[in-house]
Amino acid sequence: MADVFADLVGQDEAVATLRRAATSAAALLRAAAAPARPDDPYDDLDALAEEFDEPALSGAEPDVAGGDPGAGMTHAWIFTGPPGSGRSVAARAFAAALQCVHGTGCGTCPGCHTTMTGTHADVRLVVPEGLSIGVNEMRALVLRAASTPSGGRWQIVIIEDADRLTEAAGNALLKAIEEPPPRTVFLLCAPSTHPEDVSVTIRSRCRVVPLRQPPAGAVAEVLVRRDGVAPDVAGWAAAAAQGHVGRARRLARDPEARQRRDAVLAVPRRLTGVGAAFDAASALIEAAEAEAAASVAEIDEAERTALQTALGAGGTGRGAAGAMRGAAGQLKDLEKRQKSRATRAQRDALDRALVDLAGFYRDALTMALRAPVAAVHTDTAALAEAGAQKWDAEGALRRLEAVLECRAAIEANVKPRIAVEAMMLALWRG
Ligand SMILES: [Zn+2]
Repeated sequence: MADVFADLVGQDEAVATLRRAATSAAALLRAAAAPARPDDPYDDLDALAEEFDEPALSGAEPDVAGGDPGAGMTHAWIFTGPPGSGRSVAARAFAAALQCVHGTGCGTCPGCHTTMTGTHADVRLVVPEGLSIGVNEMRALVLRAASTPSGGRWQIVIIEDADRLTEAAGNALLKAIEEPPPRTVFLLCAPSTHPEDVSVTIRSRCRVVPLRQPPAGAVAEVLVRRDGVAPDVAGWAAAAAQGHVGRARRLARDPEARQRRDAVLAVPRRLTGVGAAFDAASALIEAAEAEAAASVAEIDEAERTALQTALGAGGTGRGAAGAMRGAAGQLKDLEKRQKSRATRAQRDALDRALVDLAGFYRDALTMALRAPVAAVHTDTAALAEAGAQKWDAEGALRRLEAVLECRAAIEANVKPRIAVEAMMLALWRG
């Protein structure tokens, strides 16, 4: 396996920051492990950990050359960036670098390997499956994060989509971040540090690592190197995915993902009237539902089977009736969680479709303006050019805005079908 940061595409600055922090963290551990001398002020890690800088309060990037072993490392981090830029990849790589027993993310030692594969005992990953992370989940997590790391290094909590914390969960997390146990590190991922994504108080206690949208060339390069994709396919997929690394990989490797994208990009030429607009809306919603259902079906079934086995379904012995009553409640909880996850998967699928569609109208707009930029969708460039001729820049911009408004409306909890129908009508009318 390569270095743990190898898959963090086009993020040189962030990687440099994280390597520096991991070096400082390793120095802290070494200092703590060294026999204490009477004149050594750093005679235990608690004292050392207090040397962590308070980056958000000072606002200054710490200087690791200053001789302070705590500089460069801190207890709480937020990784921000657009979807697909690699927020959770960065958080996981950093966690591996902190748990690395050889250096700062060699990629081969047990610390790196178990962190990257998600089995390290001291690294907990929170991936919200529904639309928000609740307070109970967060309290349990904070409690466990306070325990001594079993591997002797760090207790690490990674929270993907920290913007989906409920307010109460955010408060529970804030308490832990404000008074962190000496060996606990929180890694949060969020689209931005806007107060709608992360509360101002949490933000103020964290160091921010901004990730940028990786350039298409860098995405294509990693598809070729890591996934063995042919260079021409990699180039097309990287452009079509608009900087989303995971999406680019799916487009390059999954024929069904390509078919779904083709269907979305066929929408503009199908909008020939009101009826066609409503048909296109239905097709888009149903495709998202089908894609989401397929993506969660397998794990739903596995969870149901596992729970039934754990509950001893079919038992007839003494106490079985009482157990079944408890089981009904647990199954109901599971169904609720699965429903929430399905809703989330549908919204994600629909949003991917809308991003593809926005890319098409963006291409039409840049062509109408004769802007010297590469097309997002090279395979529908001719269609976009025809649109540019017919609509002019203004018409293309209005259509692009209709797609973006639809995304915003769904984000604001407008019923997806209503938002998509309104968008299709606007795209038809122009
Ligand atoms: Zn390692």
